[in-house]
Amino acid sequence: MEKYLNILQNYFGYSSFRPGQAEVIDTIDQGENVLAVMPTGGGKSLCYQVPGLAMNGTAIIISPLISLMKDQVDGLHALGAAATYINSSISAGEQYQRLMAMQQNRYQFVYVAPERFESGAFIQALQQTNISLIAFDEAHCISQWGHDFRPSYRSIVPILQEIGGNPTVMGLTATATPEVIEDIQALLHIAPANTVHTGFERKNLSFFIEKGVNKIDYILSYLKKHQGEVGIIYAATRKQVEHVYDVLKGKGYAVSKYHGGLSEQERQAAQTAFIFDQTELMVATTAFGMGIDKSNVRFIIHYAIPMNMESYYQEAGRAGRDGEPSNCVLLFSPQDIHTQKFLIEKSDLDEEGTQREYQKLNKMVNYCRTQNCLYSYILNYFEMGSAASSVSCGRCSNCLKQGELEDITEEAQMILSCVKRMRERFGASMTAKVLKGSKDKKLIQFGLSKLSTYGILSKYTEKEITERIHFLIAEECLSAEEGQFPVLKLNQKSMDILTGKENVTMFIQDVPAVSETDYSDDLFESLRQLRRSMSQELDLPPYVLFSDMTLKEMARYLPE
Ligand code: ADP
Ligand code: MG
Ligand code: ZN
Repeated sequence: MEKYLNILQNYFGYSSFRPGQAEVIDTIDQGENVLAVMPTGGGKSLCYQVPGLAMNGTAIIISPLISLMKDQVDGLHALGAAATYINSSISAGEQYQRLMAMQQNRYQFVYVAPERFESGAFIQALQQTNISLIAFDEAHCISQWGHDFRPSYRSIVPILQEIGGNPTVMGLTATATPEVIEDIQALLHIAPANTVHTGFERKNLSFFIEKGVNKIDYILSYLKKHQGEVGIIYAATRKQVEHVYDVLKGKGYAVSKYHGGLSEQERQAAQTAFIFDQTELMVATTAFGMGIDKSNVRFIIHYAIPMNMESYYQEAGRAGRDGEPSNCVLLFSPQDIHTQKFLIEKSDLDEEGTQREYQKLNKMVNYCRTQNCLYSYILNYFEMGSAASSVSCGRCSNCLKQGELEDITEEAQMILSCVKRMRERFGASMTAKVLKGSKDKKLIQFGLSKLSTYGILSKYTEKEITERIHFLIAEECLSAEEGQFPVLKLNQKSMDILTGKENVTMFIQDVPAVSETDYSDDLFESLRQLRRSMSQELDLPPYVLFSDMTLKEMARYLPE
């Protein structure tokens, strides 16, 4: 390892390896395939650059990010390394020149896009080349479970056999769920033991969810409070980008915009202006940012909910790469879910793929609705350690919220038993109506009017009840089957709550005072009877149904 440390210090001028780097390099040194899972900014490039400099032969780096290859190659040139890239941005003549030079082993590093492997000439040239290692950067693109699946990436796998020479293979990624990791391991023949996972922990990032705010007002006031800070605002559509951009521009901010509807030159110019601090704000769609190394980003604001947690964490993770405290704010409004559903419907995924995207979107929505620590939610999602995940970060919007942690097990039981009673055929809003005791005509139509007369949660507004239902979904105490009209279903956790094996706690901000009024013993007794008969009808223990009702509320159901 001594020689690698020397390279790190002499070429790169860094004193020591970052977490995971030495392990990855050591595995490569032993000639074994390796997978590096490290957060954005964790220093993945160095994991192939250091061995590439130490080894004889050419390191082939496959990356989907054509726009960044030149920067990487320039960086290597600055270190005195022989490096090049071969992609569609250079002329056919130039491509040929570089291919020839590659097969004469004149490079230490060659960057290529996955599409290159579709060319017979390229494969032939590779067969002539003395390859030191093959690195798959952004390796999650190889897996259909990843958030950015690229078929061209996957089709490289069988071609690896044809290249011969048995080169060492490495995969590198920042965001990988357990499924994606398994997929990469299987496709690239990486032993699970050779997977270096440094964790996603980004202790300098604080996560916030803002609900029901005027988004533009929020952004303007945020910018006022954080003057001079560099930040990225991610929007879901080009139209949103244009809108936010126009507003900020109008207020005199130094702002760039980036989305797929702009020309290649416009995008390049916007990116350069932002990278070199000519503009301090970037408004963009998710098209912006992959692989970009800008360390002083102080905040990421999501103008709308992203498609899934992988995209979210990758985008949010672009804040604070220098390790300084940074904020990641998501502006949540339920209508935005429709935009994402629309995008899923519009994409040409097959049935299974569509279903998968819906599930992922669901988890993203749950993130916005959970009342527990946001950071724990993220760590849990990526299954990053059970010990850390149950603790609160103390700095996210949920951890900082003022209010009281209340045991809502009984309310949860009421909601769940109502779902059961409704035969798991309805969504949140219909269930809320029944629990509220609404007289909505729709309830008659669906044969729910009788059930609704009990109105067992009538002390809350329909909105408050819906919030609680969404909370239960977010905590996976209840499932929402996806589709155009999500239907509520009970799951194992629901059963554990109904049987009292598990408790539910929730942050309640304003606890409504429950006033107990005096009633005569007679009245009390008849209420008790009522409680019993209603419970019998619903096949549930009495406490599940009415323990949380005030006598006064119950009195409303007394027979005349
Ligand atoms: P990733 O690809 O994991 O997102 P990069 O490879 O782009 O991250 O590295 C991010 C930054 O960290 C780069 O500026 C890189 O030079 C720097 N870096 C990498 N390794 C080290 C190290 N051992 N010490 C200091 N800085 C490092
Ligand atoms: Mg990288
Ligand atoms: Zn927290």
